[in-house]
Amino acid sequence: MEQIVQQIEQYKQEMQAFEAHTPDLVEAFRIKYLGTKGLVKTVMGEMKNVPVEQKKAFGQVLNEFKEFAEQRYALLKEHAGEQTDTGTSAKDITLPGDLFPVGTRHPLNLVKNQIISIFRRLGFAVAEGPEIEDDWHNFGAMNLPEDHPARDMQDTFYINQNPDWLLRTHTSSVQARVMENQKPPIRVICPGRVYRNETISARAHCFFHQVEGLYIDENVSFADLKQTLYFFVQEMFGQHVKVRFRPSYFPFTEPSAEMDISCQICGGEGCNICKHTGWVEILGSGMVHPKVLENFGIDSTKYTGFAFGMGVERITQLKYQVNDLRLYSQNDVRFLKQFTGVI
Ligand SMILES: [Zn+2]
Repeated sequence: MEQIVQQIEQYKQEMQAFEAHTPDLVEAFRIKYLGTKGLVKTVMGEMKNVPVEQKKAFGQVLNEFKEFAEQRYALLKEHAGEQTDTGTSAKDITLPGDLFPVGTRHPLNLVKNQIISIFRRLGFAVAEGPEIEDDWHNFGAMNLPEDHPARDMQDTFYINQNPDWLLRTHTSSVQARVMENQKPPIRVICPGRVYRNETISARAHCFFHQVEGLYIDENVSFADLKQTLYFFVQEMFGQHVKVRFRPSYFPFTEPSAEMDISCQICGGEGCNICKHTGWVEILGSGMVHPKVLENFGIDSTKYTGFAFGMGVERITQLKYQVNDLRLYSQNDVRFLKQFTGVI
């Protein structure tokens, strides 16, 4: 038996030294050691010549030998595969590589960043706040009376009652938090996602994005509001765009105005987007209501301010002529890919 064990050791050394760079050589290894007439089988045939008392020990040696051969074969096979894959002879390394698909920014983020950048140049800082708000910051502080329809369960997602917690319906709640923590002069814009309980359609969604602005200082007038928003429109849509203000009502501003720009889709001729008027509304604005200032201990006889708010989806729709709000949240790559190259 000793002689066979020595023989096995020798085979093992041979196998260890066996080099196989090609699949053909790996196959040669298999036939030589693991084939039906291979050395492993031949050595196993020796079992019958071993005395009974040594059969158990010899059985172990044989098993180890067989495993050794199988592992060695697996290793050679793996390496030969690698070498074939990376072999330089079969590949032309001067060919152009495969292109990596590069993602794009979401159109809403593109437009939001543009809005932020325009107002930053006018000295506005960016303020952010929580999306889950209490009743005071979302409604009370903003002078929305108890019976205001926006407070209705139908229009707002309440997540708790007594105390009332809700998903903010506008980013005015961030303005409230800024006024709570800062003294005038205040000059901030508040971008963020807001929620309203609307049926989802091409024109409405249960969540959308706003950028609101707030400027409070001594001697801030409606003329400052107009000049600021004129500048924004010209930077965003171009010098040729016409602007008009229409009187409106918001509980937190007095006087209030909605601002329209000449329709970018039809150029003022009249189309579906502008409901054939040639004008589209892009934002609401006004002078901050004295009651709102007083809510935060800001002296309304000394300070005045203006505020405005716009929907990012609306601005994006006009800029990129997207007619269906739902496209923004469907994650359809065919839609998103169209914004490749816009920074
Ligand atoms: Zn139009």
